[in-house]
Amino acid sequence: MNLHEYQGRALFRAAGIPMPDGDVASTPSEAESIARRVGGTVVVKAQVHAGGRGKAGGVKLAKTPGEAGDAAERILGMTIKGLVVQKVLVVPAAEIATEAYVGLVMDRASQRPLLIASPAGGIDIEEVAAKTPDRIRRVIIDPRYGLLPHQAMGTAFFLYREIAAARAAARIMEQLYQVFTGNGCSLAEINPLVTTPDGRVMALDAKVSIDDNELDRRPDLALLRDESAEAPSEVQARRANLTFIKLEGNVGCVVNGAGLAMATMDLVKFYGGEPANFLDIGGSSNPEKVVNALRIITSDPKVQAILFNIFGGITRTDDVANGIKAALAQFPVRVPIVVRLTGTNEAEAVKILQGIGMTALSDMDEAVRNVVGLAREAA
Ligand code: GDP
Ligand code: MN
Repeated sequence: MNLHEYQGRALFRAAGIPMPDGDVASTPSEAESIARRVGGTVVVKAQVHAGGRGKAGGVKLAKTPGEAGDAAERILGMTIKGLVVQKVLVVPAAEIATEAYVGLVMDRASQRPLLIASPAGGIDIEEVAAKTPDRIRRVIIDPRYGLLPHQAMGTAFFLYREIAAARAAARIMEQLYQVFTGNGCSLAEINPLVTTPDGRVMALDAKVSIDDNELDRRPDLALLRDESAEAPSEVQARRANLTFIKLEGNVGCVVNGAGLAMATMDLVKFYGGEPANFLDIGGSSNPEKVVNALRIITSDPKVQAILFNIFGGITRTDDVANGIKAALAQFPVRVPIVVRLTGTNEAEAVKILQGIGMTALSDMDEAVRNVVGLAREAA
């Protein structure tokens, strides 16, 4: 789950990370009154789940409360990377001497938290990594001991020569590590971490992603979810208890079990197709899940054909067949469906499908080749 900057800021500030005061607004007049309250020049910032807001015109300086209102007027409703801006953050503008990058991510290779830092902050860190990899430092953290003082200080000296600035940055890294581990983050990032002309070090941006698995035990964090900023199909799927990830292809996939779902996607690609989604309907079957899955997949206009790949174990294939039957009775499906099923109650499933004029294949390879061919014909 991604947080907005204003939500991430609240976590950072609670951990003691120095950040300018400020508040979030949904209207220009709210933005204007926040600007009046904080006083002086402010920055008005689009709150969307996307980086590069600065480049897209979503970050504006305003010298007076009136200008802040005008900036908010222009930014609210703007579309950045396909996302409509519904809120702006209004914060006192900082004077910037230097911009650095500090981030923590969960590193799959080492299976540990990874501290990443670069003195070349402000811009895309991916670009720095690609063009000037020596300007990035990575430190793997042993979770038994946490971020050790020498690791933080060593990394801080990679950013700053001055001892006072390095000490301040090391402290911020330790606070960031507390945010990261204390909230089940998969990412906690400050870009830019700035120094001011009078020698202070502070964070001017907050990017936080929380591992969805943390949310069951942290209802306070779960409340921060902004469904209006997520793909509608993923929101529907979560509500229906389906594990669903929207992708860009045109072959819809309904599969039971994550491993089989991955194998199915691989095979779709192997035969030259592109999966429209990852979907695991789960180990236990009930027809309602299949109805929900089909509703979500058919609402994607890109989908040209749908593949069911069901290996019946705990999942009863007749339940799945009944789900298909129920879905087709409830709403029109305008694209061809290819069904491959085998295993528990297969004979019943085949009968149910024949009853509605459908056939079931038992060979996965054949089914995937068929569905990729149908999607290609339609495209
Ligand atoms: P992002 O582009 O979406 O990552 O948004 P950021 O919050 O990182 O802002 C982008 C850029 O705007 C920063 O790298 C700064 O150069 C600039 N910026 C943000 N806040 C301030 C501020 O308080 N003062 C000044 N002078 N520039 C700022
Ligand atoms: Mn940023």
